[in-house]
Amino acid sequence: MSFKAPSFHATVLTLFPEMFPGPLGLSLAGRALEQGIWSLETRDIRASATDRHRTVDDHPAGGGAGMVLKPDVLAAAIDAAPSEGPRLLMSPRGQPLTQSLVRELGAGPGCLIVCARFEGVDERVIGKRGLREVSIGDYVLSGGEPAAIVLLDAVVRLLPGVMGSKASGDEESFEGGLLEHPHYTKPNLWEGIEIPGVLLSGDHKAIARWKQERREALTRARRPDLWQAHMPGKI
Ligand code: SAH
Repeated sequence: MSFKAPSFHATVLTLFPEMFPGPLGLSLAGRALEQGIWSLETRDIRASATDRHRTVDDHPAGGGAGMVLKPDVLAAAIDAAPSEGPRLLMSPRGQPLTQSLVRELGAGPGCLIVCARFEGVDERVIGKRGLREVSIGDYVLSGGEPAAIVLLDAVVRLLPGVMGSKASGDEESFEGGLLEHPHYTKPNLWEGIEIPGVLLSGDHKAIARWKQERREALTRARRPDLWQAHMPGKI
């Protein structure tokens, strides 16, 4: 085993440090963590609260439901954290997490991820600390932690040495702007359905053509938005 520095360092700011590494400690990401391919540092935002009750939130100005993370406490937590790579704030209002953003982040050296809770964070801290808002989809979670785990899972599997075969990354959904083709494995005949003959033909050109056709047909049928971006004017 070599003792190279990790190629990606993640710092997560959260009110629930116990949620980490969670699923990131298992399987592919967990093995990579053990091997030192990436590193993870979880910091409790509450540790930056200064009052007796360790208050991290307060009522929203102007009224309304819920609570808001205080800018002074969150800024102190950010300032005390290592600054490697961009500072992200998990937020349903953010830039959608896409495979290209995942690749951009995976290029290193790492990132800082703020996981909010309650109604979110005071708007001023977003600008003052240059937080880039990232959303994992058009739905609302109760906290940023599951979103951060999703983001890191996607980034870590692309780091050099994490996935068994590099090729399995290149043909996947969203790489090249298309969804992935269907997969089959033995038995050749299962519940009356055969594996498409071309996949058993040994004809690599024909197989590549079949995969590409399936990718295009699936993308066209299921994700007209992706298809439009891939083949402008051909919808
Ligand atoms: N009031 C906010 C939602 C707060 S949900 C709104 O309407 O926009 C509480 C926290 O969970 C958020 O601050 C964010 O950190 C996280 N979160 C919720 N949904 C998310 C999503 N789709 N993507 C990323 N983070 C999300």
